[in-house]
Parts: sequence; structure tokens; C-alpha cells
Amino acid sequence: LFTQRLLVVANRLPVSAVRRGEESWSLEVSAGGLVSALLGVKEVEAKWIGWAGVNVPDEPGQRALTKALAEKKANQMFADVVNEHYEEGDVVWCHDYHLMFLPKCLKDHNSNMKVGWFLHTPFPSSEIHRTLPSRSELLRAVLAADLVGFHTYDYARHFVSACTRILGLEGTPEGVEDQGRLTRVAAFPIGIDSDRFIRALENPQVQEHIKELKERFSGRKVMLGVDRLDMIKGIPQKILAFEKFLEENQYWRDKVVLLQIAVPTRTDVPEYQKLTSQDRSLDFQALCALYAVTDIAIVTSLRDGMNLVSYEFVACQDAKRGVLILIEAQQRIRQVPPALPVEEAIECYLQSSNRLVILGFSATLTEPVDTPDRRGGDQIREMDLKLHPELKESLIKLCNDPQ
Ligand code: UDP
Repeated sequence: LFTQRLLVVANRLPVSAVRRGEESWSLEVSAGGLVSALLGVKEVEAKWIGWAGVNVPDEPGQRALTKALAEKKANQMFADVVNEHYEEGDVVWCHDYHLMFLPKCLKDHNSNMKVGWFLHTPFPSSEIHRTLPSRSELLRAVLAADLVGFHTYDYARHFVSACTRILGLEGTPEGVEDQGRLTRVAAFPIGIDSDRFIRALENPQVQEHIKELKERFSGRKVMLGVDRLDMIKGIPQKILAFEKFLEENQYWRDKVVLLQIAVPTRTDVPEYQKLTSQDRSLDFQALCALYAVTDIAIVTSLRDGMNLVSYEFVACQDAKRGVLILIEAQQRIRQVPPALPVEEAIECYLQSSNRLVILGFSATLTEPVDTPDRRGGDQIREMDLKLHPELKESLIKLCNDPQ
């Protein structure tokens, strides 16, 4: 029986290596949407090529790491490694902005290779893309792929119009054409393997954990945020809004708790080092238990791809049927009708105990992605509070719900 082989190439492997000794490594499953989404790919034989998250200059260390990774069937380099492993008929699937140049490298070496590239983040409008020094090279490198995918139609359109305006190429309904060669461009919103979550909730250990959490938070509404510790996730904004909510609604001070999971990320980038945290990531079972006991999940990403936490929460809410508060930008990505005003959404929620309602509130930040040290604390506060009034309203009504 022929199984289609797939080479998945991404900056990070699905595991991160932590050095335990000169010749010993432990491998931990990496937290992130890309890894979660690809766990659902089952019909093909997949091989990962990526970076283990550490630099190992010494030879014994490298040998030990290669051995440790080989046990997890993964590798640590990009184009050369793909070429080394490529067999005729393989499909090579490159992931994310780190690997925008990869399709061209691969095609230059072997023009028959079937190459796809998928972006896990938003693609900006051509007005923003044109400010990059390597705007043209980046576009040309991506166009070398046979198929280019984005989360939404909007991002695909941004890419095509960047190719039209910056490279002068022709955009067609199928993609972008360059001298008779067509690169297909399309939207493929990623999702999750929801059965994996539903099954996990039946696991006795998870059930036990759910029981403990329920006891721990009994008599209080549980609000939950699960994010990588990234500027785009709007974590300070969320916490400040919650603070303000408690300041103005003293009655709720000991009756609602906000749990924020913040997974340290990109710890090798200086800007991210400033967002220090002692938190660690939760394993899959602990996370499922937490999703199951949550009353209100909050997603405040200012810019994001397809936030998977929101789906995972819904998958774990079959018994509880709580509420998901999604920032407006994320509603647009999901094409949730923005026409539903918050009051109506809350009304729906209160009237129906078997439906999950998506509430919206909007952030009016004009420059959302910035490092905290570049703006003063007061300024952050001022900007953050703009998203507060609707959120506050939602929270009051939700908390007043007798359930
Ligand atoms: N996650 C995890 N442990 C944690 C926190 C998050 O495994 O402690 C996972 C979570 O289940 C989700 C992913 O990390 O699948 C985050 O994906 P999302 O698309 O929400 O955001 P991204 O990190 O890709 O920006």
C-alpha cells in the first residue's frame, strides 16, 4: 500500500531539547498552535525537519542531541536536510515566516519537488509589506512554491496584492502568475483534532484533576487565559482590564478568579526576555481539565493567526457550556457575525444553557505590536483601558448569571 510521504519543515521541532548533562538530553513537547494543528495530520507518513531550540557548539553534545532527537524521529536542519531526505514523490510542506526563503532554495535545487508553504500568522497589507528591505526577495522566494496557504481569505488577498503592487505580477482567482507559471494561493483555516480533547476528558486522571479544580475554585467563577508569553497576545491588556473590573465591582473581588497561563516563548530574543515569567507550560491533560472547569475563556490577541486555544476550550465545554470572549480581530478571522451586540449575545447565553456564545469586545490600539519598554507604563494603561468598557459590561452580566 502506498502512503504519501510528507516532509514537514518548521523552525521548531514538535519537541524542545533541554540539556541534562554533557551527553544527556531530555525532550519536551513544544507548546504552540503549529504543533497542535499538525498533531491532527494522520493520513500521511510525516517526517519533521526543524530546530531543537538549542545551540550546541561542542561535538559530544551534538552527537548526544542527534541521538536523542533520532529517537523522536526528527532532524535539525532545513534545506540541506530536506534534500538529503527527499525521495521522488514526496510533498514538502514548509511552515511559517521563518521559512519564507525555503521554497526557493528547494526549487533551485530540484524544480520537480512538490513544495507547499503555509503562514501561521497574519500576512500584512501591501502597504506594510513594502516597507521591508527584502520585500521583493521574500515574495519571489515564497512564489517558488507550488501552493501557498494562509489562514484567511484576507491574508491570501494581501499576499496577492503585494505580488501585484511590488513585483508587478498578475493576480488570478487561483493565485499569482509569473511568465506562464502559476503559484496557487488559497485560504486554509487550521483547526484542531477535537476528538483528542473530548477523549482526554474521559481519562480517569483528568477526571480526578477536574474534581480537584472544582473544589479549589468552588463558589467562584473561573476565567481563563492560555497564551504564549508574547506581545501579540494582549496579556497585560487582559490583566489590566480585569484589575479595573475588580476595582469598579468590589462585590466580585472574591467571587471570580482569573487564571492566566503564560508560556515563556522565543526566550533567545531580547525583547521577549523582558517579559519575564516563572510560569511553565501545562501538559495536555492538565490543560484539558482546566478548560473543562472554566466559566469564561478570554482571548485578547491584538494580532494572531488562528488562535487554537479558543477551539480547544470549546471542545472541552460539552458539559459546562461556558462562554468564550473573543477579541474583535479574532471574530473577524472566524467570520463570526460581528453584528451580534454584546447585550444580545449575553441575552442568548443567559436564555440558553446548551449553547456556547461568542462575545466580542474591541481594542482600539493603533500600534498593537510593540515592546513594553518602548512605551511608558502610563501610556500602556491609557491604551489598555480603551478596551475595557464592553468587557466590563460582559463580565458583570456573566458573573450575575445564577449558574
Ligand atoms: N499550550 C500547551 N500548554 C500550555 C499552553 C498552551 O500545550 O501551557 C498549547 C495550547 O493547547 C495550544 C497552543 O499551545 O494548542 C497555542 O496555540 P495558539 O494557536 O492558541 O497560539 P500560538 O502559540 O500558536 O500563537
